[in-house]
Amino acid sequence: MAKKVTAKTRAKPAAKKPAPKKVSAVGSAPAAKKVAKAKLAIKKPAPRKSAPQAKAVVKKPAAKAAGKPVAKASAKSIAKAAPKGAAKAHSTAKAPAKPRQPRWVYSFGDGKAEGSAGMRNLLGGKGANLAEMSNLGLPVPPGFTISTDLCTYYYANSQTYPSSLKEQVERALEKVEASVGAEFGDSDNPLLVSVRSGARASMPGMMDTVLNLGLNDMTVEGLAKQSGDARFAYDSYRRFIQMYSDVVLGVDHDHFEELLEIHKEDRGVHLDTDLDASDWKSLVTAFKAKVQEKLGRPFPQDPNEQLWGAIAAVFGSWMNDRAITYRTIHGIPADWGTAVNVQAMVFGNMGDTSATGVAFTRNPSTGEKLFYGEYLVNAQGEDVVAGIRTPQHITIAEKKQTGSKLPAMEESMPKTFAELTRIYKRLEAHYRDMQDIEFTVQRGKLWMLQTRSGKRTAKAAIRIAVDMVREGLIKKAEAISRIEPSSLDQLLHPTPDPKASKTVIARGLAASPGAASGKVVFDASEAQADAARGEAVILVRIETSPEDIHGMHAAKGILTARGGTTSHAAVVARGMGRPCVSGAGALRIDYRAQQMSIGSQIVRKGDIITIDGSTGEVILGTVPTIEPEMSGEFGTLMQWADEIRRLKVRTNAETPLDAETARKFGAEGIGLCRTEHMFFEASRIAAVREMILASDKAGREKALAKILPMQRQDFVELFRIMAGLPVTIRFLDPPLHEFLPKTEADFQAVAQATGVDVATLRHRERQLEESNPMLGHRGCRLGITFPEIYAMQARAVFEAATAVARETGKPVTPEIMIPLVATRREFDLMKAVVDETAKAVAAETNKKVAYLVGTMIELPRAALRAGDIAQAAEFFSFGTNDLTQTTLGISRDDAASFLDHYVAQGIFATDPFASLDREGVGELMQIAKERGRKVRPSLKLGICGEHGGDPASVSFCEEIGLDYVSCSPYRVPIARLAAAQAAISTKRAPSEA
Ligand code: ADP
Ligand code: MG
Ligand code: MG
Repeated sequence: MAKKVTAKTRAKPAAKKPAPKKVSAVGSAPAAKKVAKAKLAIKKPAPRKSAPQAKAVVKKPAAKAAGKPVAKASAKSIAKAAPKGAAKAHSTAKAPAKPRQPRWVYSFGDGKAEGSAGMRNLLGGKGANLAEMSNLGLPVPPGFTISTDLCTYYYANSQTYPSSLKEQVERALEKVEASVGAEFGDSDNPLLVSVRSGARASMPGMMDTVLNLGLNDMTVEGLAKQSGDARFAYDSYRRFIQMYSDVVLGVDHDHFEELLEIHKEDRGVHLDTDLDASDWKSLVTAFKAKVQEKLGRPFPQDPNEQLWGAIAAVFGSWMNDRAITYRTIHGIPADWGTAVNVQAMVFGNMGDTSATGVAFTRNPSTGEKLFYGEYLVNAQGEDVVAGIRTPQHITIAEKKQTGSKLPAMEESMPKTFAELTRIYKRLEAHYRDMQDIEFTVQRGKLWMLQTRSGKRTAKAAIRIAVDMVREGLIKKAEAISRIEPSSLDQLLHPTPDPKASKTVIARGLAASPGAASGKVVFDASEAQADAARGEAVILVRIETSPEDIHGMHAAKGILTARGGTTSHAAVVARGMGRPCVSGAGALRIDYRAQQMSIGSQIVRKGDIITIDGSTGEVILGTVPTIEPEMSGEFGTLMQWADEIRRLKVRTNAETPLDAETARKFGAEGIGLCRTEHMFFEASRIAAVREMILASDKAGREKALAKILPMQRQDFVELFRIMAGLPVTIRFLDPPLHEFLPKTEADFQAVAQATGVDVATLRHRERQLEESNPMLGHRGCRLGITFPEIYAMQARAVFEAATAVARETGKPVTPEIMIPLVATRREFDLMKAVVDETAKAVAAETNKKVAYLVGTMIELPRAALRAGDIAQAAEFFSFGTNDLTQTTLGISRDDAASFLDHYVAQGIFATDPFASLDREGVGELMQIAKERGRKVRPSLKLGICGEHGGDPASVSFCEEIGLDYVSCSPYRVPIARLAAAQAAISTKRAPSEA
């Protein structure tokens, strides 16, 4: 009975959803009856297994495969399986039963599943969501998932499987057979499956999916007969041979594409769709011959060998170079493992009522609440994103917007579109997030093949999160937690000035927003090498593939000639936050000549171009840019973040421009004003050198008197801009060494200014030279040896504060910070200089300025002696750049040569200068905080190292209870968001425990 089922009915597994009882009442159509019958027949205990299995095994290869765990499923093993399953219930009750076999395989389909979305770690993202969609009763072709645990087992046990796997797979496959009403390997009524990898996080490096597995010389005939469509059957078979050979057997797909091209030329046709059954049949023969030629053995005909070969290839791909690179870039641990999904095939290539497509429930570029996607009629699997044919839009709105002539799915398949609409809305409401979905239409029937949270630009992420709060789908805290703080970077950088004149040489799709300029490079490895030398590059490719990931990561921007907004280039670029223009069809890229042409315009390797991923423009040369603004949904989200966070966010700024930028981004004060930057200015450096090279105090004071008014003016401007917000001024810190004259001209200039001859100056310079300046005459050691320098700085601060307070009527409360303190005595001496100057200025101006004097904590000794120092210091600011240097004994300037090795070998999880070393440096911070607050509960605590803008480090600062973080202006919004997220998760943590 079962064998008579036609392809049409076979392909309707879910049509027979949960209620198999009274089919006749529902389906009056003969087809429906047939399904019912077929199913009923299968529902019988059916000891049918071994016979068709044997039939399917084509002559010899079975013996060869004996080394792999593919030995034929015997009737015995199936018989054994059943009682065991039945016995389970009992054995749990009995205490000392044998340890139960771990479960490796989880089935889904027919409106139910053994897994769910919550089991992502075990089933991988794809498997968990296929299970979830099945549980929701959505039309999902049945299948099963082999868990990520098995991948871990596989690598822990020298790439072998546990003995129980084979049986579990066989039983799960039987369920699929029963559900579909077809048998794997049966020559009349073959079940075909796809084998799909799927890790916890989506991973482009993993094995490509194999479709139509189970086809061989015999089953293809069965498929042809059943479907009444030999062209379809052989089209499926040639796809299978090509995919399987490429991803499992390692015979490159180019070989097959070449054969196809030659065949098309011989036949004088252009499109694949112009080829008929006999064409595909002869190509299948040619494909198999090619495999024989390349491997010296035939293409595997045994479906079991095919299946186990594909499973092994998925697990093998977990350790391929692409996957390893991707994991390194994204910090994914190797022990997560991948799952394998085996799923009954549905066919989008069964003629004009069939199709395959991908869609996003909202626009992934802008976040606009509009269904958005592409589909292709009479196509299979990845055809949509592969750029072979131009895909059509799903909605009429989208079609109109792009001016496409091809019919939208909404008009060509209205009923299916309506069902798809119902499903996508259901999925979005269920997951409470924008979904990226894959579907296939087989002869008018819709099947769901994948759903996952869609990748999106930062802009879209914010818009979607804010919209979803307004729609009542999620809470504000959830919206805040969903945005990756560092992704804001995409929105905080300049975009091309719309008013600037520019030469647009081509247009493509706005695939990932932002503008980038750089020199053109056509090769991913070259892009990586150039970027490593600090050059800005734009990677230009006809289209990208996972092999290009390292180059895409290194490039400032990506430009492709082919591919839509869901192409590889677009998706990966959005994920990485790189601007991308895809599908710029006018580009003629010639890899061999290392150039591209657009009409008569030729752009060579090394020429500079700009791409604008927000408009799709490709521009010659560089383009002036404008600053971004924090308005709309971005502003709203930041406001919500501000409501939730406890940590204050200040900025590291010394120039008026930086201070203004930071305020615009929401900075609540200056956490670090480095006065030395002011000293380096061209107009001042001569006076500074004069001061340093002076042989006595009088000489230094003379030079300092020249610097004082300039320094005062610096502070006046900053105090004005910060309008009453706290401003922390760090007194001179860098090694004197750095200010020394270098060239002969430098010396001449100082000689002229001071009247001291060059020879004397050179002598003084040699005295000041240090071999290890970072640990040399710097920080408060300058103030200790030359107190007049700090006195001048203090005077400049107080005079400026008095002036601005007079001018604005609002008091200014400067916070004066002494750098590189190791002992209480150092601090006391410096504080005395500040206090004395304050008194003097107050007497002169008749105005008292309120101020704080505190210290940087950047030496381990200072952290340990914090209790002592805090008796005199009113605030601590953790200078974690130096604290990391001095705790680890690693010079920040010289670490590059070995740091990568340290990270690669897991000595450091990440670069400790980029993300705080919680265990070491963090413990010192913790100690300093405890000892400091013990003697001075009101002690103000902040951080002003680079770490203040790193989300993970901000989180640590929240955990230990600092008052503020301070970071560079462009990172202020990132820190605000990270601080809000940290507040949310630290609040949540206690109740979760
Ligand atoms: P990826 O992770 O690269 O998206 P997928 O496993 O999702 O890989 O599959 C690649 C393509 O094959 C997708 O278009 C998917 O919808 C399609 N596909 C996968 N399994 C099946 C199946 N059982 N029937 C039909 N199409 C399938
Ligand atoms: Mg997919
Ligand atoms: Mg320092």
